[in-house]
Amino acid sequence: MKNKERHVFLECTECRNRNYTTGKRIRADYKLEKKKFCKFCGKHTPHREKKL
Ligand SMILES: [Zn+2]
Repeated sequence: MKNKERHVFLECTECRNRNYTTGKRIRADYKLEKKKFCKFCGKHTPHREKKL
């Protein structure tokens, strides 16, 4: 992991499970939101970043 990145969780917006982690540039001031498959919901849902 490069020191210009930090890890964040990607949290399902429906069931709030933290299904993924991803690297994000420290200087990025936007919020990550990605459509990912949630195995708890059994479908693709929007996942939002959460800090570790
Ligand atoms: Zn879910």
